[in-house]
Amino acid sequence: MPRTISASDIDESVLLFELKQWVEIETPTRDAAAVNRLADRVEASAKGAGLVTERTAGTLGFGDILAVRSPRPTGSNEKGVLILAHLDTVHATGTIGQDLRLRPEGDRLYGPGIYDMKSGALMALEAMKIAVGIGGHLPIDLLFMPDEEMGSASSRDLIEAYARNAAYALVVEPARDGGKIVIARKGVAMYDILVRGRASHAGSKPQDGRSAIRAAARLVLELEAMNDPERGITVTVGTIHGGTGRNTVPAECRLQVDLRLPDVETANEFQRKVESLAPVDPDIGIEIKGGLSRPPFAQSEEGRRLFEHTARLAANLGITLEGVSTGGGSDGNFTAALGVPTLDGLGADGAGAHTFNEYIFVSSLAPRTALLANLMLTLNGDL
Ligand SMILES: [Zn+2]
Repeated sequence: MPRTISASDIDESVLLFELKQWVEIETPTRDAAAVNRLADRVEASAKGAGLVTERTAGTLGFGDILAVRSPRPTGSNEKGVLILAHLDTVHATGTIGQDLRLRPEGDRLYGPGIYDMKSGALMALEAMKIAVGIGGHLPIDLLFMPDEEMGSASSRDLIEAYARNAAYALVVEPARDGGKIVIARKGVAMYDILVRGRASHAGSKPQDGRSAIRAAARLVLELEAMNDPERGITVTVGTIHGGTGRNTVPAECRLQVDLRLPDVETANEFQRKVESLAPVDPDIGIEIKGGLSRPPFAQSEEGRRLFEHTARLAANLGITLEGVSTGGGSDGNFTAALGVPTLDGLGADGAGAHTFNEYIFVSSLAPRTALLANLMLTLNGDL
């Protein structure tokens, strides 16, 4: 193998064969045993290529976390390249037999989780095998998470521990429309708000009641008024549940709220705003639980240099790389928040994440695997 990998150095048929096996093992986040079955396969493949594997037993009911590491001298603590992937998908078991069959259509290959992100996870592993086979690179750690689609609560600590020893983080989440990669992601805050009023008979004692629904409705309007598209702030009250019956003044109402925030200052400002919401009526109680689940991932100066370096490597492969910001969170939010230059969306090109229309462009597999390998081979801590 030459030191610079081109798309023709990647055996697309081998990648495709393996990818189909991965997709056929359906891995809904909540099915730890299923996620672990795929982790077994990934681990065996990594070991077969001489890579070092470490398995961390699952917690919170999720599957194991699999770390694949490049062999390195004992005691070496040189900062390296951290690659983040996840093996779970949003699709329920049985999806592949009914709503989203594994099938080619021209250059497209459909299947549950194929785009988000089994293709990216596999491409990262194959690229790592190539880079390690050639040698002369920084230490490489590739993490396969079991719970990314539910917020990575069981993986966050380990991701952050690895990030503290990383010079760069690469996330193989799917590429965005037309193969764009992700240079910034908003932070995500989630809140559960419980409004307490007082129940009473709607006909005979309405004056004794304090409607939790009415108070909650005011809060909904207050929350939604915080939306500010120009500053990139979105606030959504996603669910509302309240009341016990038509003829009872409702004693309780619950809201679930989602906030997307572009940077740390905005995140602090809006967390304070939400947490200081108060009812107008002194007889109404309010409990606000939650906070930032994924910190904002804003592009840093080092992040910009990492992007430019990657764009140059991509140009050599005939790929015009464009960067985009997105409102969706990923594990890249954790590494970026720790100051590690992070690039995301390095997986396959395709569309339909989280839908029954999910597919990849098969023709994007080889060039983007080559790009990942070239990144691993050229990142030297000095961009
Ligand atoms: Zn994903």
